[in-house]
Amino acid sequence: MRPDELDDRPALKPSEAFLRKLPKTDLHVHLDGSLRLETIIELAEEQGVKLPAHEPDRLAKAIHMGEICDDLNDYLKAFDVTLSVLQTGKALFRAAYELAADAAAENVRLMEVRYAPNLHIRKGMALTRIVETVLDGLNAARQDHGIICNLIICGIRHIAPDQSLRLAELAVAYKNKGVVGFDLAGAEYDYPAKAHRDAFYLVRNNNVNSTLHAGEAYGPESIHQAIHVCGAHRIGHGTRLREDGDLLNYVNDHRIPLEVCLTSNVQTRAVTDYRSHPLKFYYDFGIRVTINTDNRLITDTTVTTELVRAVEHFNLDIYDARQLVLNGFKSAFLPFHERQSLLRRISLELDDCVNEELRAHGYLADATLRTATDGSKRLTRVENEGKPAGKKSGAVAAAS
Ligand SMILES: [Zn+2]
Repeated sequence: MRPDELDDRPALKPSEAFLRKLPKTDLHVHLDGSLRLETIIELAEEQGVKLPAHEPDRLAKAIHMGEICDDLNDYLKAFDVTLSVLQTGKALFRAAYELAADAAAENVRLMEVRYAPNLHIRKGMALTRIVETVLDGLNAARQDHGIICNLIICGIRHIAPDQSLRLAELAVAYKNKGVVGFDLAGAEYDYPAKAHRDAFYLVRNNNVNSTLHAGEAYGPESIHQAIHVCGAHRIGHGTRLREDGDLLNYVNDHRIPLEVCLTSNVQTRAVTDYRSHPLKFYYDFGIRVTINTDNRLITDTTVTTELVRAVEHFNLDIYDARQLVLNGFKSAFLPFHERQSLLRRISLELDDCVNEELRAHGYLADATLRTATDGSKRLTRVENEGKPAGKKSGAVAAAS
C-alpha cells in the first residue's frame, strides 16, 4: 500500500522550505536552456556575440523567460540565443558547471543533463571535445558540490536522421564515461521518431538507455513510436498519454517513468493551464511520475518551484511530495545496484525530513515513519499528539 492510498494520514501541506530541503533529482534538464541569464550576457561580451538585448530584463523578455509561448516551436526560438554563446569549450564547461552548482544549491542530488552536441559545432569544435568539455564541467561540479551528474545525448527531430546516427555513435562511445542515455528532442509535430530509428537501433544494440520527448506537441502515436519503434526506457513529458488508455496501461504495467515538466507544458501550451495537466491523474493511477525542470532559464524554474506548483495545483501532501521525489531516484539511469544503494540512503533521508516536518506540526510522539534498512516496505503506526489536521488520531503512515 502506498502512503497516498491511506485515508487517515495527516493532511500536511508541504512548505516551500520543506520541498527545498528534500533530496531531489532532475532527470529532464537541457543544458542549452538552463544557463544563468548573466552568464549569457558575460559570454556574449567575451565572444563579441550580438544578443537581442544585453540587459538582463530585456534579454529575459526576448527569450520569453517564464512566459506563455504560442507553441513548442515558439518556445524553441530562445535556444537560438543561448546556442549563440555556447560554441566554445570554455562556455560549455561554464554552462555545465553552473547548471550543476545551481541544482546542488537546491539539494538536487542527482541530475541527468541533456543536450545535442551537433548544435555546438559552429566554430569548428569536434563532437568529441564538445562531449568531453561538458563532462569535465559536470565532474568539476560533482567534486565541488557532491551532486551526481550524468549526461544524456540528444538527437534532434527536425535535423536529418543521419545526424542522429552520428550522435548515437557518440552516446555509444561515451557510455560508461559519463553518458548514460540517448534522447530525441526538438520539434515533435511533423517530425516522427520513427525517421530516427537507425540511431535508436544502434543505441539499443549497445545497451544504452534511451528516453524520448513524446506526447508533448503530438498525440499518443508519438509515445507509441518512442516505446515500440525506438525502445524508450523513459518518456519525456508524456502529457498526451491520457488520450490512449491502452498505452497508458502499458506504460504503467511496464513501469516506464514519465519525465513530467509541469511549467514547461503550460508555457508551450501542451496543456491549457496547470489544473488541466494530467500529473495528478497519472500519479493516482500509479504511473511512475517524476518532476523535472526542462529548462531552468527559459522556463524560469527550479525543481523546488516545480514541486511547489504541483503541491499548489493538485493539493498534494508531504507523503505525495516524498513519493514524487523518490520516483526520480527510482527512474535514474544508474546501474541497478548503485541505484538500490542510493535509494536506501535517500529513503532514510526522506523519512527523516518527513518525520521532522510531522514533529514540527505536533504529529509525532516518536519518529516512527521509517523505511526498513533492507529497503522493504512496511507500515508503521504513527502516534498523533493531538493536532487536528489528520482525519483521526493514531494516523497510519507508510514508507514506500
Ligand atoms: Zn525537454
